[in-house]
Amino acid sequence: MSCFLLINKKFDVQCINDEILEKMSLKNRCKFLNNNLMSILKPKHFNFLKKAQKFYMKLEEKYNITHNEDFYQWVPEVGKEGLITRINKFENIGLNFEPHGMTAEFMRTLATDFFDPQMAMGMGASVLAVNPLMLHHDNVDIRLKALKELVTGEKFGCICITEPERGSDAVHMLTTCEEDEDGSFIINGQKIYQTNGTKAHWAVVYACAEKDNGNTMGQFLVDTSWDGWKAERVNIPWTPRMHVGKETFTNLKVPPEYVLGKPGQGREHLFEGLNLERMGIVILNVSEAWNALSHAVIYANMRKQFNQEILKFQGVGFPLADLWAKTMNLTLATLHICQIIDEKIEQLGTLPKQFNLALGITASQLKSQSAKLSERVCYGCVNLMGGAGACDNTLMHDLLGISRIQEMGGGTRQIQQYIMSYALRKLFRML
Ligand SMILES: Cc1cc2nc3c(=O)[nH]c(=O)nc-3n(C[C@H](O)[C@H](O)[C@H](O)COP(=O)(O)OP(=O)(O)OC[C@H]3O[C@@H](n4cnc5c(N)ncnc54)[C@H](O)[C@@H]3O)c2cc1C
Repeated sequence: MSCFLLINKKFDVQCINDEILEKMSLKNRCKFLNNNLMSILKPKHFNFLKKAQKFYMKLEEKYNITHNEDFYQWVPEVGKEGLITRINKFENIGLNFEPHGMTAEFMRTLATDFFDPQMAMGMGASVLAVNPLMLHHDNVDIRLKALKELVTGEKFGCICITEPERGSDAVHMLTTCEEDEDGSFIINGQKIYQTNGTKAHWAVVYACAEKDNGNTMGQFLVDTSWDGWKAERVNIPWTPRMHVGKETFTNLKVPPEYVLGKPGQGREHLFEGLNLERMGIVILNVSEAWNALSHAVIYANMRKQFNQEILKFQGVGFPLADLWAKTMNLTLATLHICQIIDEKIEQLGTLPKQFNLALGITASQLKSQSAKLSERVCYGCVNLMGGAGACDNTLMHDLLGISRIQEMGGGTRQIQQYIMSYALRKLFRML
């Protein structure tokens, strides 16, 4: 069997020998992860993780996937398996996901990231469109239809917040929404850097009745086939297979049944989703770190220099052990918060307001540290693998690119620091 089939990663020139490439298969990398997690996960979550991993192994084999393809083509099949999102049970749209919740979402993301990190990130953006629909469908048929299509992977979604002139200062939007006599809204303006922007069928768009006034923000579900929606692809060289868009809205008419939040409600709707969005990014960051470690640990145990496996040199084994310990620490912290969220939802059906406020700070703490850790672990593992880490023979290249972006999305590093330092002031005032 050729090596190309053994690891299913297409490359022009083989740099890593057959034996090591074979060992770095999806199956073995998952085994490494599972051996780390088996003693700390509850059986229902561990079993779900293993089931999701098995699905991806079969998918990789079925299509002889090389991870150079357009991953959007696999999403409907992933959706049928119930692996687009596991945050909810989705009973209201005829689904019955078990297990579901934040911990299940963590397992889903781990399995998906090990299969294809860029696909995991793209699917995450679709989930950002799912969450507002889940909260504001009000049993309106078209919203439930959109929700189901997104959750089952029939259609892709994107979320339109960032604008060319309004990034971190997202609340002061320049995109406008004007109410028509028939209760519909006319949207004009531009958005940028929307993950899935040029692939999405459904978009959740934020716009203000009055430019620069966040108190007049509305939230709208948009069918991207409507007149007035134009999306151009933005090239992000670090994630070349992910479609990121720049959208222009020209008199884009949104009928009343698609209005998720009228002007005045949009800002609250935007913030209510942020905690879960940031926790989703944390989970993705941790998954990327494990994925990078799984490659580097296998490689360092097999690659020989000076007649010895390089892991045995302190210069390799010790820093790798450090990266592993940091990743495990962050995994434990993330699991702990996921489990608390799941318990609260199970007991109360929703997250209490005070808890949600505190979660905002925790999510910022975890988001900022996990993004930094993911970047360090992915780069550190590349470095410890030498040329084998830098070439295109494995997924390390994808992991390196993605991990460099994670400090930007979902509120940049500085915005997280701003939130945290503001919280320190508040805590001091409580003394
Ligand atoms: C790959 C990718 C995918 C994305 N996906 C989406 C998506 O799906 N939907 C969406 O709406 N957006 C998306 N974004 C946009 C992302 O959320 C923004 O890039 C981010 O909010 C920062 O905005 P900006 O790029 O305009 O940078 P700016 O806001 O212009 O920031 C530039 C620099 O200034 C710093 N800065 C700004 N204000 C302050 C301050 N008050 N204090 C200290 N420092 C500050 C920032 O931290 C940053 O370092 C995506 C971005 C990328 C790169």
